[in-house]
Amino acid sequence: MTLGSLFGVSVRMSPWYVLLLFYLMFQLAPSFDRFADGYAERIAVLGLVNAAFTFTLLAHEFSHVLVARKFGAETDEVLLHGLGGFAKLRALPSTPGGLFLMSAAGPAANLALALGLSAIGLPFDGELIRALVAWTIYANFAIASFNLIIAHPLDGGQMLHAILWKLTGDREKSERACQWIAIGIGPFLTGAGLQRESPIMVLVGMYLLLNGFVRLQKTPAPSA
Ligand SMILES: [Zn+2]
Repeated sequence: MTLGSLFGVSVRMSPWYVLLLFYLMFQLAPSFDRFADGYAERIAVLGLVNAAFTFTLLAHEFSHVLVARKFGAETDEVLLHGLGGFAKLRALPSTPGGLFLMSAAGPAANLALALGLSAIGLPFDGELIRALVAWTIYANFAIASFNLIIAHPLDGGQMLHAILWKLTGDREKSERACQWIAIGIGPFLTGAGLQRESPIMVLVGMYLLLNGFVRLQKTPAPSA
């Protein structure tokens, strides 16, 4: 489903994103129920939380989009899906510096939002708005730190790829090394997700493992 377009890039939402929003609502209902009386009010409050979450994801993805554009890489669409957001780039920046800055832009935007809200959040009156701001700060920190895990294709993994590419001068070899790192980290993330009862961590861990193997098949092995 297309939601609209921002900076000339269309924003689409997969049905799995609706499932993610419902999951979030169930997870957060105990923390936010005290701000609402009836059923309709509860849904409205949780709708505000969902809006803050969606804004957080879009700020992350559009930071990637705008920095990628600076390096000549256009984006076809931003997709909100079951595991978060995803910017479909037509091509990656063609230099390690460009790749690093584009990848760092998403987490940087979330950290900036978290710090900005921490600075202005306190003067807000009203318990609900304070709780919403506090949760949005937490969500931005959580999304920034999760994406900084050095497992390709998470942002941290792309940043590591850019650094190795710069150091070795070999784009493909360094990407292969990053895929092996992602394959190593994936099962740990799945294990941690099982321990913390976080289905998202479990799925992302499995995705990292499978994506790593698929990408290794696609990236040609360096020939001697
Ligand atoms: Zn990102």
